[in-house]
Order: sequence, then C-alpha cells, then structure tokens
Amino acid sequence: MSFDILKGMATTLKNMGRKPTTVSYPEEERELPPRFRGRHVLHRYDNGLERCVGCYLCAGACPADAIYIEAEENSEDSPTSPGERYAKIFDVNMLRCIFCGYCQAACPTGAITLEKEYKLAAYYPEDFIYHKEQLLEPEGQSTVGSNEVWAEPAPQDAAQPVPQERKVFDGSQASAAAVGLGNVHTERPVFLVDEEQDADRRTSSRSETEK
Ligand code: SF4
Ligand code: SF4
Repeated sequence: MSFDILKGMATTLKNMGRKPTTVSYPEEERELPPRFRGRHVLHRYDNGLERCVGCYLCAGACPADAIYIEAEENSEDSPTSPGERYAKIFDVNMLRCIFCGYCQAACPTGAITLEKEYKLAAYYPEDFIYHKEQLLEPEGQSTVGSNEVWAEPAPQDAAQPVPQERKVFDGSQASAAAVGLGNVHTERPVFLVDEEQDADRRTSSRSETEK
C-alpha cells in the first residue's frame, strides 16, 4: 500500500467522529451573524411616515451604482416622510449590488438597512430590480432593522477575517489581504506622469476667457 493511500485513510479516520460543517439546506438553515448583509429594507417611523427623505446620499455612496432614486416634494396636507421630500421611486438593482452596506452607513435617517434575507432568485434579470413597493416595510410595521446591531461597537474579541493592524477597516494592507494579494502595499507608484496633461486646465481656460 502506497504512503499516499495510508495518508488518505488517516485523514478519513481522523475526521470520522467530527460533526459535519455542512447543513442540509433548505430543510436546515445556518444561523447568520447579527451583522449579516442581505436584502435591503426601507423603514418607517412609528407614526407610519417613511424614514427616507429622498436625499440621494445612499445612491451617492454606492460604489456599484445600484440605487436609483427619484425624489418628490411632500405635500403639506399628507406628507409621506417628515422631510421636505420623499422618495417617489426607489430602486435597488440587486444584480449590481455587492452588499457592502455603504448605503446603510450613509443614510442619515436610518431608512435603509441590509437584512438577513439572502434567498434572492428570479427567472428574469429585470425581476432583480427591487422597487420601493418591495423594499418598504408594510404599513403598520416600523422597525430599525440591523441599525440596532451596527450601532454597537464591535466586540473587542470579535474574530477578524484578515489580520488588521488597527482593528477597523481603514483600507490598509488588510484590504489587499482580503482579495488574496497578501501584504502587497496598496499605495502604488505613479508610472506615467504627463505634467502638461495633469495640469489644472481650468485656470488657463478661465484666464483665456477673461482676456
Ligand atoms: S449594499 Fe453597497 S452595492 Fe448594494 S446598494 Fe448598498 S451601497 Fe450599493
Ligand atoms: S435611504 Fe436614506 S440616504 Fe437614501 S435617499 Fe433615503 S434618506 Fe437618503
């Protein structure tokens, strides 16, 4: 018997008594961490008004350009949100979304959160554009969603997925490690310098107009 077969059998025997790490999905589901980032939810206040004030900050923060908003002025008699405006249209393109949570972090009113729903399937690509009607909490429901768990600072002993120097995501070498580049320094030298092209031409064009 070759050494490789013995080695393989030893590995099998070693793992025979261990609990499996797999689960029988969909009958059984894995418990997700509290800060899991899945499908978005738009929240309401207790009085039923929508938290979203149509400020576009989430769309601006989204690195995947996945959020499309059209804001409209609230009517004085029956406002939709407590702000001047509300989101008349609020779409999230789930095919573009990378579930980074920047939209949630950017929102000043806690209107948008990423929740634990991850079973997102559809037959047609257009069905992955989730509209406001699908995202907004139903009337009579008002929750803060995962904002509750994100409000607390991370526990000191929380396991870090990659070695980090400062225990916060700060774009240091940890980000390179996360994508498999080890400790390659993220600062890269500028290889091409074209001083003429890089010059701020606005000044010269301004002074030419003034002439
Ligand atoms: S989770 Fe990230 S990628 Fe997805 S919509 Fe929000 S900001 Fe955009
Ligand atoms: S979800 Fe939040 S950040 Fe986005 S438009 Fe509404 S209020 Fe602004």
